[in-house]
Amino acid sequence: MSNNNTPLSTQIERNLRDLAMLERATFRKPETTRIIAVANQKGGVGKTTSTVNLAAGLAVGGLSVLVVDADAQGNASSALGVEHPAGTPSTYDVIIGGARMEDVVQPCPDIDGILVCPATIDLSGAEIELVDVSEREYRLSVALREYVATHREIDIVLIDCPPSLGLVTLNVMVAANEVVIPIQAEYYALEGLSQLWRTVERIGADLNPGLQVSGMLLTMADKRTRLSEEVESEVRSHFPEHTFETVIPRSVRISEAPSYGQTVITYDGKNVGAIAYRKAALELSQRIPSDAR
Ligand code: ADP
Ligand code: MG
Repeated sequence: MSNNNTPLSTQIERNLRDLAMLERATFRKPETTRIIAVANQKGGVGKTTSTVNLAAGLAVGGLSVLVVDADAQGNASSALGVEHPAGTPSTYDVIIGGARMEDVVQPCPDIDGILVCPATIDLSGAEIELVDVSEREYRLSVALREYVATHREIDIVLIDCPPSLGLVTLNVMVAANEVVIPIQAEYYALEGLSQLWRTVERIGADLNPGLQVSGMLLTMADKRTRLSEEVESEVRSHFPEHTFETVIPRSVRISEAPSYGQTVITYDGKNVGAIAYRKAALELSQRIPSDAR
């Protein structure tokens, strides 16, 4: 390799350094299971991508992870290689049908340490069906708490939310201890964020004491553009304590991976996006909210 400092060689050196750091790093095992909602009512900001890749990063780091797919699209289930045709026992059956999570979860075939509670298109009816169900805000919470009480080996539960603040997202936020908010480094990134923040505060004050935002993750950043930098510094100045140090870059490999039923970490582990998600997962493992229960 030539030793002139082209940006490419700098990037390659940085990747190798990061990979070596990640191999040595200690992912912190929490004392009790952390239940984390990955939420943002905006679509296309990287919720699903962050859920599956953070899960992969945590699992590669040695933690045991349950991914609950709470979006009727089922994209998180697909990306983790779990089939989810209509009728598959799923999050819908847990929330609406009173199924036990135990009877619904499936192992991710490619990554040791990840279990998946899949979503099917059935979940698209849940918003309306929930209206008439008793204890409608607590359905997922009750099922999940029963599950983690008997599966203490699960270190972290990540729940992929749909792009709305409806009853399914409410169920997720009532079930969770923490919320991670992916923010696309784009125009209008902060739009809707104060509503989301207030929703978390209201649920934390009322239905689920202690719920809090544990992190904001900038996604799809393009380091070459001023806009990405501006959005990043704006988010950091609004939420200095909450913003992940790691920023997820835009990378074609990240968007290709799901079509192979893969995370970018299994699909192309040396890719900058794979490395970034592993770094973000390390941060998440160490970023335990101050008064977490
Ligand atoms: P959400 O779940 O919030 O709707 P997704 O995770 O599905 O968002 O992401 C929206 C789209 O952007 C998907 O097609 C996904 O593959 C793509 N995407 C997400 N993150 C990245 C990234 N860092 N680089 C490139 N494409 C990305
Ligand atoms: Mg999604």
